[in-house]
Amino acid sequence: MPRKTRITLISTGGTIAGLGQVGHSTGYTAGAVDAQTLLDAIPGVHGLASLRIVPLFSIGSQDFTETHSMLLRQAVMDALNDRQTDAVLVTHGTDTLEETAFFLHLTVPVQSKPVLLTAAMRPASAASADGSGNLRDALHALRSLCASRPVKTPNIWVLMANRLYGAIETSKRNALAPDAFHNQRHCAFLLDEHLEWISAPVEGAWPAGRFASVLDKAMVNWASGKGASQDDFDGLLPEVPVFVCHQDINPKRVAAMLKPVPRGWVIAGVGHGAVPAMLHPLVNKLLQQGCWIMRASRTPEGPVFVSGENPWNQSSFEGRMLASGRLTPWQSRIALQLSLLESDIAA
Ligand code: ASP
Repeated sequence: MPRKTRITLISTGGTIAGLGQVGHSTGYTAGAVDAQTLLDAIPGVHGLASLRIVPLFSIGSQDFTETHSMLLRQAVMDALNDRQTDAVLVTHGTDTLEETAFFLHLTVPVQSKPVLLTAAMRPASAASADGSGNLRDALHALRSLCASRPVKTPNIWVLMANRLYGAIETSKRNALAPDAFHNQRHCAFLLDEHLEWISAPVEGAWPAGRFASVLDKAMVNWASGKGASQDDFDGLLPEVPVFVCHQDINPKRVAAMLKPVPRGWVIAGVGHGAVPAMLHPLVNKLLQQGCWIMRASRTPEGPVFVSGENPWNQSSFEGRMLASGRLTPWQSRIALQLSLLESDIAA
């Protein structure tokens, strides 16, 4: 009999572990049910995999801080380094899943064991709860990914509503529907117990593990810093706020929000990342003050290139005016934070 896939499940909370009034989809407490109870509700789960549970947090993903991301990264790496683990499953809230998946994609060293994040849009107590289906699919997907080794996998996958996504092309598109991540390019879907592949994940300028060693170095410096604790990482990464453009912006209000001047700023521009002219003087001032800026877009589909709609091309600030490509503004924030850290470490 083939050996069962050995999966370490790291739970962080979210709606998948949510509990509320029986039969209702809204008005619940996130992270109220433990992972073992969720697994026990899946018929035949124990025949599927041998599971080790690491209860890490019980929070909604809207409350994630840098410290949560760093502790999760560490828990994922510990599990990957464990010889008794073939694959890692993370349960998470949907609201900021794309940020965590992208952070892990960039910062977990490349290896051959799959890591998969899953979530739910409806709490376990709702009539149409989707968590146990997603969990069961996640276990099948991990078994399938492990069976296809030694094919090198990228680090991080996301599974929602039957579809498997690469970490970069994951973003929540619907505030209430169970297939909240649909409309994103998915790499595979689960048919019965197997993955049916459609395409490989795209990495572009952001390959898996790109900032793994940079972050490790920064952590060593952080730990040797003035009494910094191993469990508090807030402030390790440079602050990078995000601003979403709209009509009729008051530049003074925006300037007030940017005091003191941050190391980096993501502007979710309109369309192809266009920045309204009323913000140009402020952008110029920030660039002069050393701030790095990444132009993203508030429009959900389509990339933002350096060349398009960018009056700063060929200016002396060109190197510090970046474009998000296919990243969401929130993923752009993480990319810029880590790029700034890399330039600090190289200096
Ligand atoms: N607020 C929840 C969270 O992100 C929503 C969800 O999981 O769907 O944790």
